[in-house]
Amino acid sequence: MRLLEDRIRHDGTVKSDQVLKVDSFLNHQIDLGLLRTMAHQWCEDFKDAPINKVLTIEASGIAIAAVVAEEFGVPVVFAKKSQSVNLDGTVYATQITSFTHGRVYDVIVSTKFLGKDDHVLIVDDFMANGCAMEGLLEICQAAGAKVEGIGIAVEKGFQPGGDRLRERGYRVDSLAIIESMDPVTGQITFRP
Ligand code: 5GP
Repeated sequence: MRLLEDRIRHDGTVKSDQVLKVDSFLNHQIDLGLLRTMAHQWCEDFKDAPINKVLTIEASGIAIAAVVAEEFGVPVVFAKKSQSVNLDGTVYATQITSFTHGRVYDVIVSTKFLGKDDHVLIVDDFMANGCAMEGLLEICQAAGAKVEGIGIAVEKGFQPGGDRLRERGYRVDSLAIIESMDPVTGQITFRP
């Protein structure tokens, strides 16, 4: 999506050859107008899919997913990072290694809010190695929910997560795919 690519070029900061900062418009200060345009695009791209729920993971996916859910007119559920997982059958649980913090989190979704009648669009701000997405897919599988697609704001195409999921048949719709980024010059190139 041209608008998002331009915004990344203009306001994004390449922190290292692995990490892009977009905290002035996407995941700290948030430009809701931009989020609405992104949500509109996903709504258009997935208009043939019977999506009845949007799923994300806290924290930075929540704002994006909330705007997307409003555009689809469906509820949004976010997976919670939890200190102690009580496996008493009331939650679906998995573990996710955080790309940005390097640590492993237990992540849960209540069985009340995801089930076999759900057709899910999973949304997140970034795709890197795909760990967060693998965890959310595992939770959907445990719930018997059908994953209709995956909407990512910024995919780093030089990291393997997105393409691996496409190879497995998932519909991954990334609005900006970064081909390369240079922390010295700040130059960012996008996949056409
Ligand atoms: P993955 O699980 O695909 O390796 O990484 C995705 C998660 O890590 C996202 O939920 C996102 O919050 C975080 N992340 C990955 N790469 C970046 C990045 O370059 N910048 C920021 N701000 N977050 C990232």
